[in-house]
Amino acid sequence: MNIRKNDMVLVIAGKDRGKKGKVRFAYPKTERIMVEGINFIKKHSKARGAVRQAGIIEQEALIPVSNVMLLCSKCNKPARVGFRFLSDGRKVRFCRACDEVID
Ligand SMILES: [Zn+2]
Repeated sequence: MNIRKNDMVLVIAGKDRGKKGKVRFAYPKTERIMVEGINFIKKHSKARGAVRQAGIIEQEALIPVSNVMLLCSKCNKPARVGFRFLSDGRKVRFCRACDEVID
């Protein structure tokens, strides 16, 4: 999975197609992510004592990582991501369009 927490991504599929947001959580095992402001769902909840208000809560839901592309901070385009190794052995991501290292 080439998307991580705090990445800026562009949604390319689904009802929020075309929107941008910051990755709040990434779950590599299930290949799902939560993005700020993307894929709001409405939850209907009943009041539970004084803690929870009754009503409709809007909340972000997970989306498949295949529905987004990483936005390159340098060329500001949805980036096709490649991997390379630095001289110190670290594996980093880079933008195939402008060659900028993303990590
Ligand atoms: Zn780039």
